[in-house]
Amino acid sequence: MRIDILSVLPELLYSPLNYSIVKRARDKGLVEINIFNLHDFASDKYKSVDDYAFGGGAGMVMMIEPVYKAIEQLKSEREYDEIIYTSPDGEKLTQKTANTLSLCENILILAGHYKGIDQRIRDHLITREISIGDYVLSGGEIPAAVITDAIVRLIPGAMSDEQSALSDSFQDDLLAPPVYTRPAEFMGWKVPDVLLSGHAAEIEKWRHEQSVRRTEELRPYLSDNE
Ligand code: SAM
Repeated sequence: MRIDILSVLPELLYSPLNYSIVKRARDKGLVEINIFNLHDFASDKYKSVDDYAFGGGAGMVMMIEPVYKAIEQLKSEREYDEIIYTSPDGEKLTQKTANTLSLCENILILAGHYKGIDQRIRDHLITREISIGDYVLSGGEIPAAVITDAIVRLIPGAMSDEQSALSDSFQDDLLAPPVYTRPAEFMGWKVPDVLLSGHAAEIEKWRHEQSVRRTEELRPYLSDNE
C-alpha cells in the first residue's frame, strides 16, 4: 500500500509516522508513506501557497495552483483509490472507514491549512472528505497522521498476533474489555480472579461480557449498527 500526503508543514508529520507500528510497517515494506511539501509546487519565487480570500474576511486560503499541480503530477504517476481532504465538515472518521481504506492500494491525503483550501479543489479533485471530530485544529497534518495510523495498523502483518487489531475496540461494534498486568494486587486493588484462573474459555466469556457491558454503558449506539 502507498499513502502520499500533501502538506504545507511536512515537519508536523515526520514524528507521528516514524515510530511504533507505523514505523515497523514501513520498515517491513507493508506501506510506503511519502510526504510532499506543497511549497515545492509553488510557482513564484516566494514559494507562496496561500492568498487572501475573495470577498475579504480574516485568514488566508490555500491557493489552487500548487495543490492542482501536486495532485496532477502524482495522479500522472499512479491511480489513486481515494484523494482525501482532511476537513472538519467531512464524514467522521470511524473504524469502518479505516477498515475500508486499509484495503486500498494508493491513497492521497491533502492536509488543509489556514482558513482551508480553495473550494474548487474540493469540487473537482477530492474524492472523499474526512473529519477526525467536531472541533477545529490549526491544520490537517495531525488529522492526516491520525487517518494514516488508523489505516496502517490494520494492514495484515503490521501488528503481531498478540497486538491484533481484531481485538481492539469498534471491530465487531464492541468496545475492548479492561486489561491488567502484574502485579496481581497493588495497594489492595485486585485483578479479577478469572484472569488468574488459567481457564481460557472462562476468560474469553468474561472478556466478552465486559465488552458488551462497556459498549452498552459508553457507546450504546454501536449495537444499533448493522
Ligand atoms: N475554516 C475552517 C472551518 O471552519 O471549517 C477550518 C480551517 S482549519 C484552521 C485548517 C485546516 O485544518 C482545515 O482546512 C483542515 O484541513 C484541517 N482541520 C482542522 N480541523 C480538522 C478536523 N477536525 N478534522 C480534519 N481536518 C481538520
